[in-house]
Amino acid sequence: MDFPLINKSWKKGMNTFDIIFPNKKFGGSYNLGVLIIYNLINNFPNWICNRIFLDEGKITSKILGFTFQYELDYHNFFKLLEKNNIPKNKNEREQIILAGGPYVNANQKALQDYIDLFVLGDSEEIMPQLLKAYEERKDKQSFLKSVSKIEGVFVPGITKEVKYACVEDLDKLPYPLYQPLPEKISKEYVFGKAFILEVERGCPFRCKFCPMPLRRKVKHRSLENIKKIIVEGIKINKRKKVVIYTPSFAHPQRKEILKYLLSKNLEFSVPSIRMEIVDKELMNLIKKGGQKTLTIAPECNEELRFKIGKSIRDKAYFNFVELAKEIGFPKIKAYFMIGIPEQTDKDIKEMIILIKELKKRFNNLYISINPFVPKPKTELEKHEFNIKTLKNQAKLLKKELYKEKINFKLSSIKSAYKEWELSHKS
Ligand code: SF4
Repeated sequence: MDFPLINKSWKKGMNTFDIIFPNKKFGGSYNLGVLIIYNLINNFPNWICNRIFLDEGKITSKILGFTFQYELDYHNFFKLLEKNNIPKNKNEREQIILAGGPYVNANQKALQDYIDLFVLGDSEEIMPQLLKAYEERKDKQSFLKSVSKIEGVFVPGITKEVKYACVEDLDKLPYPLYQPLPEKISKEYVFGKAFILEVERGCPFRCKFCPMPLRRKVKHRSLENIKKIIVEGIKINKRKKVVIYTPSFAHPQRKEILKYLLSKNLEFSVPSIRMEIVDKELMNLIKKGGQKTLTIAPECNEELRFKIGKSIRDKAYFNFVELAKEIGFPKIKAYFMIGIPEQTDKDIKEMIILIKELKKRFNNLYISINPFVPKPKTELEKHEFNIKTLKNQAKLLKKELYKEKINFKLSSIKSAYKEWELSHKS
């Protein structure tokens, strides 16, 4: 049994909507997109919204929304259609299928033959208009035609120009306060019984490989609103921990947010941190909030890092890990990439030196190395994914790092290639 579910029972004349996370429940339960839709739709008196995951729930509604976090989830989308006897062909099914999430926002082409409409940008702007049009529809085709005019809705074959819906003021939006989790959770629920707190949308930094800055203006929730959300969210969900949801935690009042959480005796965790926003006071606050592991993403050696739009010197990472050690953090996760445009063996060797230097300063360093996947709508989107180059770079890394007895995790080049193919499908 999940808690706290929004207590609604179906009555004649009510509509139902299924919000579907095409992957395991332990990840999908924390997904902000799912939580937003679940809360938003259930706020309408004549609508009920159910959550469905790859491993739980049955699709029963005539209107459904899939949220895609990774391109590789596209396969799960087809699995779920098959499992629920829903035809892939849009013209052969009565259900209306919506899709949203970061990866379909960047490219709709891979799925456009199977999805009736895409929700692009801030869904809070779009969904109320969609629900109203659904209530007033004559048939599926007239519904699709009428919603194709909504900003942020892309109906393949009907919409001429793709536009993204964008809210100006996050404080004016309802917050997804109900965040159901099973009564008993396994270790796979990585955040534990936590309340997800979105403090801002968008990112002020300009990494050339990241689709984030190109899509959205940065918007911050006010401190006052954040405090209100914390109080209500903790009370409704009976949680003692808060996960701060933000791409880079550049919120101008980030310290005040953390101090407020501490004043309420709440544990918290923050995501990967940009060096520009860190100082000793912030690190101390994070430590007091109970976070054990810090995450950084140097990506590569300094010279290449500057070229890909992340203008942070190695020195800043050295200072960071030294400070983390001084403050007493037990672990740091550091993310790197191979297969970056123009990345040569010289760059890989410099990256190895950087890893060694970091490790010297902070021993419990977990190193994750990932193949770079050029994403659509980024400055590096045209870069070709080259398996041979990646394999050679991986070989060099393995040879050098194993020699130094430095462990690291290398993600699958094959999966990354599939991800690249799917994200660029036209
Ligand atoms: S800091 Fe993170 S979210 Fe922001 S642009 Fe860079 S990679 Fe993207």
